[in-house]
Amino acid sequence: MISYSKAYKITESEFRKLNLKTETVKLNDALNRIIAENIYSDTDQPIFTNSAMDGYAVKSNGNIYTWKIKGEISAGSSNNPIVKTGEAVLIMTGSKLPRGADTVIPVENAIVKDNILYLKNIKSFKAANNIRYKGEDIKKGKLLISKNTLITSKCITAAATCGKSKIKVYKKLKIGILTTGNELVDINKIPKGNKIRASNLYSLHSAINEINMTPVSFGIVKDNLSLLKKKAVNALNSDVDILLTTGGVSAGKYDYLKEIFTLLGIKIKFHKVNIKPGKPLLFGIYTARGKHILVFGLPGNPVSCYVNFILFVKNVLLNIMAPKINNTFTATLNCTVTKKDSKRNFLRSCLYNLGGLNYVSVIKNQSSANIGSLSGSNCLLIFEENKKTLKKGSKVHCIMI
Ligand code: AMP
Ligand code: MG
Repeated sequence: MISYSKAYKITESEFRKLNLKTETVKLNDALNRIIAENIYSDTDQPIFTNSAMDGYAVKSNGNIYTWKIKGEISAGSSNNPIVKTGEAVLIMTGSKLPRGADTVIPVENAIVKDNILYLKNIKSFKAANNIRYKGEDIKKGKLLISKNTLITSKCITAAATCGKSKIKVYKKLKIGILTTGNELVDINKIPKGNKIRASNLYSLHSAINEINMTPVSFGIVKDNLSLLKKKAVNALNSDVDILLTTGGVSAGKYDYLKEIFTLLGIKIKFHKVNIKPGKPLLFGIYTARGKHILVFGLPGNPVSCYVNFILFVKNVLLNIMAPKINNTFTATLNCTVTKKDSKRNFLRSCLYNLGGLNYVSVIKNQSSANIGSLSGSNCLLIFEENKKTLKKGSKVHCIMI
């Protein structure tokens, strides 16, 4: 059995050996992908000096607060008036500031009588107000989105402003799922006798979609050595980058996965990690015929399976591909929790906000088979190996799930 941090390091170093390919996609298809290029601003922003308000562009004139209105300019218009001392031009938000003008008076502070502009409130007049200067937001050539960033709609705004109608992103990795167990039936069936629904197939499928990778299902296979071997060979011959199997990695008589890994030439990197849930995790690498497939033998218990996926697939992968994503938060524990073991525990918990502060409550039932507590939680509280008690009011770290 190895420690969590060792297991993390080993999986991380193997993930780094994956050949991450890139592709170019339309900007509208880039949401939630990870960008594989830097995007620099191709212009100054704003491109030209313009008005920040609907109002009047004027040339300020010392202590004299009246101006003669001599025309107008709206956003996008090719009107190019010149404003001289004592003159004003009606201007709309985003319109190019006329030559000579140095201040915009908002309509809210304007009174117009016989084509003369007066101020409602002289005190609120400030020279150079309400102008957005060329380049004050972004200078041409500035790095706007750096490589290995998760593309959000905010990034899309910046990319669109730079005229990037297509961008380079990392190709989605293909992640295969093969679920094993004599007791499993598809979720469309009503389980009879000692059968159960193979929920893991679906939980992993959606968890893979959640990180915007491509799930590939290899279905359910019985605990039968030759059948398992056949299915696993099938999966390894496909174009998956990662293969997840579920079940059959514990100490039961029909837990064949470790044997299968060895039979197929999968080099085992570790088996069993000092964590709870998810201790039986098996991890190996398949490198035959120039391939580099990461193979995870996940335990069958739905919670262990899911938590292992979060810790060793999602977190490791995102940490490499988009290291700026942070899904760990600090919160104040709202109860005292204890444990007897020396494992790193990941407690299903609920992070909530009260008066602007993060608190976390721990769900009572922490059994690895307890699905209700998984769906009722929103984070995993990290309870370190060497600690036996976490006191109410102490600061703890939680991984959002
Ligand atoms: P195993 O890891 O094969 O020893 O399975 C551990 C527990 O998880 C057993 O109670 C199994 O019935 C259950 N289990 C195994 N595979 C799945 C699955 N795909 N979906 C839901 N539960 C499963
Ligand atoms: Mg089993």
